[in-house]
Amino acid sequence: MSDTYLELVNGGLPATVAKKLGLPRPARLRRTDPSAVDRPLTPGPVLVLSDAGAAAEADTVAQDLLAWDLDVRRDPRLSDHERWGAVVVVLTGVTHPTDLATPTLELGSVLRGLAPGGRVVTLSRTAPAAVASPSGDAGTDVPAALAAARLGVDGLVRSVAKELRAGATANGLVLGDDVGVGAPSVRGGLRFLLSARSAFVDGQLLQVGTDGGSEPADWERPLAGAVAVVTGAARGIGAAVARVLARDGAHVLGVDVPAAGDALSAVMNEVAGVALQLDITAEDAAERILAVARTRYGHLDIVVHNAGILRDKLLANMTADRFDDLLAVNIAAPLRMNETFAEPGVLGGDGAAPRIISLASTSGIAGNRGQTNYAAAKAGIIGMTRALAGPVGRSGGTVNAVAPGFIETDMTAKIPPVPRQIARWGSSLQQGGKPVDVAEAIAFLASPQAGGINGQTLRVCGQMLVGQ
Ligand code: NAD
Repeated sequence: MSDTYLELVNGGLPATVAKKLGLPRPARLRRTDPSAVDRPLTPGPVLVLSDAGAAAEADTVAQDLLAWDLDVRRDPRLSDHERWGAVVVVLTGVTHPTDLATPTLELGSVLRGLAPGGRVVTLSRTAPAAVASPSGDAGTDVPAALAAARLGVDGLVRSVAKELRAGATANGLVLGDDVGVGAPSVRGGLRFLLSARSAFVDGQLLQVGTDGGSEPADWERPLAGAVAVVTGAARGIGAAVARVLARDGAHVLGVDVPAAGDALSAVMNEVAGVALQLDITAEDAAERILAVARTRYGHLDIVVHNAGILRDKLLANMTADRFDDLLAVNIAAPLRMNETFAEPGVLGGDGAAPRIISLASTSGIAGNRGQTNYAAAKAGIIGMTRALAGPVGRSGGTVNAVAPGFIETDMTAKIPPVPRQIARWGSSLQQGGKPVDVAEAIAFLASPQAGGINGQTLRVCGQMLVGQ
C-alpha cells in the first residue's frame, strides 16, 4: 500500500511540474520505525513561548524539556544554519482573546525557521463553557471572555496546522483546571506530540482531564511487563499495533478470525506474542481472551478493539445483512466484550493500569457517503468510550478511542483510484497515514503516562478536512 504520487513528487522533474501546476506536494513524514527508538526527539532546538500570564508555567515546561536532553531556548533568534525542531507555546494564562495576540504573532515570526517535520504544540486550559451544564443551571455561569480566550486556542491551533508545510504539524494539549503543566499526561502528551510518533496527528486538541498516570521508568519501553490483546491483529492497523506495543515492551496476544490464521501466526511470531484464532462476535470472546492471557501471563492490562469490517452501500441500496454484519463486528462485539473487561478488577495487574482503546473513524465523526452502517458503528464507539470512562476511571484505568482518517491498508486499497487520491489530498498533510501512525497513538494512550487522558477520541487523520 503506497502512495505513488507522493513518491513521484518528492524528486526530479515530477516535483518541478507539480510545483508549476500548483498540485499538492505532500512531504515524506518524520515517522517512527516500529523497530527503532525515537532519537532525536525533535529535528532541532525547541523554542518555548508563552502568554504574559503563563511565564512561570513556561519556565517549568522549559526545565522539564531540558531533562530530555533537548536544546531548549527562550530567545526566538536562530543562527543561520539552524532550524527549530519545535515551538511549544504555553497559553495557560490567557483570560481574554486579546491575550492571544502577542504569543501567536511571536509564533508566526518563527514559523519560517521550522524544520521539515517540525512541531508546534500549545498548552492551554479547558474552556469553562465546555464543562458547564447545558441547561444553564445557576452556579454554572462562567466568564465569557475567559471561555472565549481558551476556546480561541482551538481555532488558532487548527489554523496553524493548515498553514504548515513540509510534514510539520500543530497540535495542543488542553489541561483541566486542576492539572499542572508537570502532570504525567501533560509531559507524556508533550513528548508524544513532539516526537515522530505523532507523525499523522495534526490540528488536534487533546484533553488532559486529571493529573493521573505515572511516568515510565524507561520512556522507550513504557509498557514493559504489561499484557495487551489486539483484535484483528493479522494485518493492517492491528498488525502495526501489535508491533508497536511489543516494541514498547508489552506482551501481545493477537486475535483474528480462523481464515486469517496464517497471517496472524506470522505477525505473532515476529513479536514473540500469542496467536488466538477467534471470531470476536462469539458470545464468550472476552472470557476466552482472558483465559489465554491469564494462563500465559497471569493478567491482562490493555485491550485494543481494532477488528473491523466494511459493508459499504448507499442507504437506498443497503440490505439488512450488510447492516447487521457490520454492527455485529464493529460495535456489538466490543460492547459485549467490555461488559467483562470494564468490570473492576478484571484488567490490570502487576502494576499496570487498565486501558481500553477502540478504533473509531473520522466517518463516525463527519459521516461518509455509502457508510451509514459503518459511521453508526464508529460514532457508537465514541459514545461507548465516553460512557465507560467514568466506571473504568474510578477503578484506576482509562478508556479512549482513536479515530483514523484515510490510512493505507488492504481495507482502503479497495477504494477506486480517483476517490482514493482525493481522500489522501483531503488532509492538511496531503497524504494518507500509515498503520504505524495509528499504532503509535494507541501505544501512547495505552502507556502509564497517559493515565490523565480518559473518555477521549484522538483523531489520527492528518487533519482530514471533514468533521469537527
Ligand atoms: P483490515 O481489513 O486491513 O484489517 C482488519 C482485521 O480485522 C483483519 O485481519 C480481519 O480478519 C479482522 N477481523 C474482521 N472481522 C473480525 C472478527 N469478527 N473477529 C476477529 N477479527 C476480525 O482493516 P484496517 O484498515 O487495518 O482497519 C483496522 C480498524 O481501523 C478497523 O476497525 C477499521 O474500521 C478502523 N479504521 C481504518 C481506517 C483505514 O483507513 N484503514 C480508517 C478508520 C478506521
